[in-house]
Amino acid sequence: MIEFMNVEKTYSNGTTALRNINLKIGQGEFVAVIGLSGAGKSTLIRCINRMHEITGGTLIVDDVDVAKLKGGQIRRFRRRIGMIFQSFNLVTRTTVINNVLVSFVPELPLWRKWTGLFTKEQRIKALEALDKVGILVKAFVRVDQLSGGQQQRVALARTLAQSPDIILADEPIASLDPVTSRVVMDDFKNINKAMNISVIMNIHHVDMALEYADRIIGIRKGEVVFDGETSKVTPEI
Ligand code: ADP
Ligand code: ADP
Repeated sequence: MIEFMNVEKTYSNGTTALRNINLKIGQGEFVAVIGLSGAGKSTLIRCINRMHEITGGTLIVDDVDVAKLKGGQIRRFRRRIGMIFQSFNLVTRTTVINNVLVSFVPELPLWRKWTGLFTKEQRIKALEALDKVGILVKAFVRVDQLSGGQQQRVALARTLAQSPDIILADEPIASLDPVTSRVVMDDFKNINKAMNISVIMNIHHVDMALEYADRIIGIRKGEVVFDGETSKVTPEI
């Protein structure tokens, strides 16, 4: 459960990106956050895992008061929340499986990550995660050999290997073609429904948001201007 209570975010340069945000998101919901560029969507989801710190109000994520976390607590907290980016954020010059295995040792320097320090259980878990998003056959292929859609599914597998309660996705299909976008959105939907993982996704394709999400939150100039079930959204929104 995620709860925003009068949340405000003002960046250090004085820009107020969020004001008076009040939201409750239950476990297992698939929420699409829509709005124009600069509306505050990215800021909103990045406050949830404390990539950004809120500057007012209270934000509770699974009984944790996010603003009160310190040092090592922040790192442990972040590990329970998956994050998917528009640009995939993979290490492209190594294999798919290595990219998933990294999720088990995020704090290690890069050069130590591929040196055979993973247990058999971790390897199995990584392969299972790849299987869940339908790219097990690519496990030993280098990431730079894959299409954009396949790369985004590797990013999803990497997140799943962490067994998150929540996946945050910041424009995950913005750089994919329409056909591939659907494959990736289907993966999000399957993961959300089969594993009861909450998905909170920024997406500027309103048609895709309407097709896949259970709930739509509309943001304009840092404020929530719409919040409701997808079935209740009228076409002009
Ligand atoms: P969206 O994701 O809807 O495009 P953002 O959350 O990225 O919106 O941005 C909301 C507002 O905050 C914009 O005015 C943007 O320029 C500003 N902003 C975003 N990130 C920063 C930052 N790190 N420092 C200062 N201003 C920022
Ligand atoms: P926070 O207070 O959440 O740590 P900062 O204001 O320190 O955020 O900015 C974080 C980073 O985002 C900085 O590296 C900054 O240069 C960059 N940034 C600044 N303005 C923007 C903007 N309009 N959109 C996106 N990123 C921005």
